[in-house]
Formats: sequence, structure tokens, C-alpha cells
Amino acid sequence: MDVDAGHGAALGRALPTSSPGDLTLSQRLRSLLSFPGGDDDPVSVLTRTHRSIHPSADAAVLRRSYAIAENMHRGQMRKSGDPYITHPLAVAQICAELGMDTTTLVAALLHDTVEDTSYTLEALHGDFGPEVTHLVDGVTKFDKAFYGKIAEAETIRKMIVAAGKDVRVLVIKLADRLHNMRTLDARSPASRARIATATLDVLVPLCDRLGIQALKRDLDDVVLYHLEPDAYARIAEHVQNRPGWTDYLADVSAKARVALRRQRVSADVHARPRHFYSIWKDTVSGGHSVPFDLPRIAVVVDGPETDCYAALGAIHGRWRPVAGRFKDFIASPKNNLYRSLHTTVTGPDGRLVEVLIRTETMHRYSEYGVATGYRYPKVAETADPAGDQLTWLRRVLEWQQETDAAQFLASLRCDLAEAQITIFARGHAFELPGGSTPVDLAYELSPQTGDSCLAATINGRLAPLSSQLRDGDVVEIFSENDGHVEVEPGAPRGPRREWLGFVKSSQAQLQINKYFDDKNEPGISIADKVRLGRATIGLTLRKHDRGLASEVPLRRLAEEIGYPDLETMLVAVCERNLDPDAVVEQLIALVDHPD
Ligand code: MN
Repeated sequence: MDVDAGHGAALGRALPTSSPGDLTLSQRLRSLLSFPGGDDDPVSVLTRTHRSIHPSADAAVLRRSYAIAENMHRGQMRKSGDPYITHPLAVAQICAELGMDTTTLVAALLHDTVEDTSYTLEALHGDFGPEVTHLVDGVTKFDKAFYGKIAEAETIRKMIVAAGKDVRVLVIKLADRLHNMRTLDARSPASRARIATATLDVLVPLCDRLGIQALKRDLDDVVLYHLEPDAYARIAEHVQNRPGWTDYLADVSAKARVALRRQRVSADVHARPRHFYSIWKDTVSGGHSVPFDLPRIAVVVDGPETDCYAALGAIHGRWRPVAGRFKDFIASPKNNLYRSLHTTVTGPDGRLVEVLIRTETMHRYSEYGVATGYRYPKVAETADPAGDQLTWLRRVLEWQQETDAAQFLASLRCDLAEAQITIFARGHAFELPGGSTPVDLAYELSPQTGDSCLAATINGRLAPLSSQLRDGDVVEIFSENDGHVEVEPGAPRGPRREWLGFVKSSQAQLQINKYFDDKNEPGISIADKVRLGRATIGLTLRKHDRGLASEVPLRRLAEEIGYPDLETMLVAVCERNLDPDAVVEQLIALVDHPD
């Protein structure tokens, strides 16, 4: 893992790797200049945080990646006037606090080098290997100059594709956005609102879907700060001035502990304050004129899942539950696999208190979601719910092969939308977008069931296929393949175009469109062929663990092998007149050995 002399030279400056003594000295000097009063090692806080969770982690590689990042970004400034390196360092710190592994922190330190400096993916690959390269490439934006308006959508798609292979890409992207959002103050109100809205649009729901609540709370709050500064200030004021609040929570917790002990439930009880955004949401949705915020405690049981119900019994036995406020997310987990029992009781002094009940494992997954396995590598449970979160990601990836970037982004938004309903069919629960119909469910069951769907019953009654389902409905789908449905000979088969008028889920829309596309084979436009050719090259590169941050080498190759322009070459790849493996081999040779 030593820095390659060749790449070092490409950085334009000698890297401080010749002797460890020099490294310390140069860092000492630098820290005196840019970190007045701080520690003499700029990565010491990062290393300390990282080691507090992963005691045997390699700090040298962090120092080395910091040195390269610092060197590459030297002279660049943030809008705030801070040296640019403060940003990747802060992003790595956020990842460290989440408990991510060393590779993630290295990639976080280097995440903007390829996009914003002369450091190339090839140099990165030589210096840090394929994993870090994949992570950095995954968060590197597409060039606006080349992709134009579609660059943003293409960038999100690329990131999701990269995350399908390694979900750490998304963790870095979310940490990156969080720090950017925290440092927006130097920008105009209009651009702050634009960035905050964009964050709310895709990244926050994505973070929620991946179950990383620890990160989502921070993102939520910083979005609120930029979009609703007055509301944010009011809630901050409210949180700071709650007379007797702390004492009350201590009293409730102590009494809850006694009640639990009496029922022989071993559990940790602590206050669990809501974050600002969650207070704001309840205030607005309840139409309250002052911030609405109930005291809340968490009961983390030290035992099996069934102990949660024993704990619930102990709490409900002590204080009267409020009707309609009990929710069992253990029996029916949320679509991000969040699991807990929620209840509200009339606590001491007749005040309402919210109670969350969960096991230690549920608690970890509810905080860290897909990142849990990185924070707690030794306790990677056999039944890892994070695996299911990745199943969702993989399904999203299936659509992206069928659609262009703009359509993909629309589908992703729809699938991430918060309003979801739970439908029961074939003995299982299914999450569908609000307003879904039996056809949506049929496609959720399988594409074949969707294509051959004929009729449906909702709660035992025959209903039109276009009926809007409601939360909790029990639905049965009848299809041609069931055998017990009589199909008239000559009756139309397969999906109907009309279905496109009422289906809600991306899955159903895509499958129905696909059915008709396959049947009619409408002519593919040149633009589609170019796009498919580019995607093919991208996928082939990925097989070699490589990516392409810029189109320049591809253009040069097109020229070299005799195509009038890149687009013509991409069409040839799409039509298989040109073998993508051969193109990629030549491309890699061209990049690695430019002469
Ligand atoms: Mn960044």
C-alpha cells in the first residue's frame, strides 16, 4: 500500500512518504499554520473516534490518505473561506462516528479528489486499490458539460448502481451531503433552499429506506434549519426552555424501571428526546400553535423479542395506555425494516408519555440500518435485516436497466415516497405506494402474476382491478395460471394498456411498458442506442473494477480506432458490431499506458 512513485510524481508535488520523520515534521508545521491551538496531528480526532469503535484499525492509512487529499486540494477554498480539506475531513469524521470501517474513511477523505483535482481514478487505484476506487467513483459526479441537463439524474443513477455493489457509496454520499448542508451559511437563501429541497427529494428518503436513523435525524434537522428557519428557531427555543422536563423524564424512567423489575424484565430505560424535525412534523400535522412534543422514553430489553411484549405488559400495567396509540412494528416492521413497539401512556401527574420498546439488536438496526454490520462486525447476526434492505436496493437496480435516467429518478422518488400502505396477500404483508390497485399488488407478487392477472377480491369481495386499496386490505389475485379461473377461448390475454392509467407502483408501470415494448419492438432511437452503448461500457468496466470519471479517454479511443465520434462508437457497441470487452481492454490500456 505504499504510494507509487509514478503517481506521486503525477500529483505535482513530492508526497511526504520518504521518511516517517519528515511526515511528522511537515504535518507539525502545517498544523501550526492551519490548525492553531489544535492537536499536532490533523487526523487525530478522526483516528481516535475510529479506534474507539474499531480498536485495531490501521491509522497509518488514514494519515496517508489525508496527506494525499490535503496535497491535492491545497489552495482550494470552501465558500466559507476554510481550506477545502476541512470538508473531506469532516465527511470522514461523520463516517467514523457512524462506525464505518477504515476503507470507508479512506474513501471519504479522498471522495472529492477525482472530481475536483488532477488526481485520477487510475492514480487512486494504484495508491489505494479497487475498493476505495469503487467508492470514490460511485460518488463522483458526471460531467455537466458532457451530460447536460440529464447529468444530475445520471449521477444519482450511477451512485445507486455503485451502491448495489457496495452500499458504503451511499453512506459516504449521505455524510458528504450532511456536511455540505451544515456549511451552507455562506450561500444565498435561494441556493440554500434549492440544495435543501434537493436533499429532501431523494437523499433523505434514501437514508430512511436504508434505515440509518442516526444520520437521517441530522439531515432532517439541517434541512429544516434551511427551509423553515423561523420554525427551527422556535423549536430550538422550546427545547432549551422546558421547565422540569429533565426531572420529569428521570422520574418516569425510574418508575418504569421498578415496574419492569417487578415483572422480571431486565431492561435499560432512558430518555429519548425527539429531534427538531420530528417535533416540527407533529406540530404542523396536529395544527398546534406551539411546538408539540411529548416526553419520550426508550426501553431496551436485555433478552429475546418476546421480552418486548412482557415489557409492554409491565408499562401498560403501571400506566393507562392511550387508545389508538399502540403500534406493533415488531410483528409488522416498517418498510425500512424498523422494528419496535410504540405506545403512549398517561404517566405521572397525568401527563402523556411516549414509550418505545425494543431489543438491543433492534435498537442497533434502528440506529444504523445497513451500516450496522460495519459498526458491529462481530455480531453480524445470522438473520441480518440489513440484507433485506439491500434486496430493496437490488430491485431498484433492476428497473434502472429498463429506463432512462429521468424515468429512473421518477420511479425512485415514487418508491421512496413516505405514504405507503400495507396489503396482505398469500399470507404475507406487502408495502405498496398509497393509491395502489390489485394490479400493483399482482406485479409485486411477480411479473408473471401481473401479466396474467384477471380478477381480484378485496377483503373477500370481488372488486375491479382498478380499485384503490386501503391500508390493511386482504387481497387475493386470480390469474390465468391459477387453473380455477375459467378463461374464455379467444378472450384477450396479457396486461391491458388501460392499466397504465391507474397503476401506482414503479414495478407495475415498468413491467407493463416492458410487455408492450417487447411485443411491438418499437424502433429504438439513436439516443437510446448511445445510452445503451455507454451503459454497456460502464458495466463492462465494472467487471474489471474500473470506472470512468471523464469521457475524454473514451473519445480518444473512438478516434483512435477510426470512428467519426464517440456516439457512433457507442451505437456500434449497442448493436454488438463492436465487442464491449475489446473496447474496455483497449480503454484500460490507453488509460494505464497513455503513450
Ligand atoms: Mn464532497
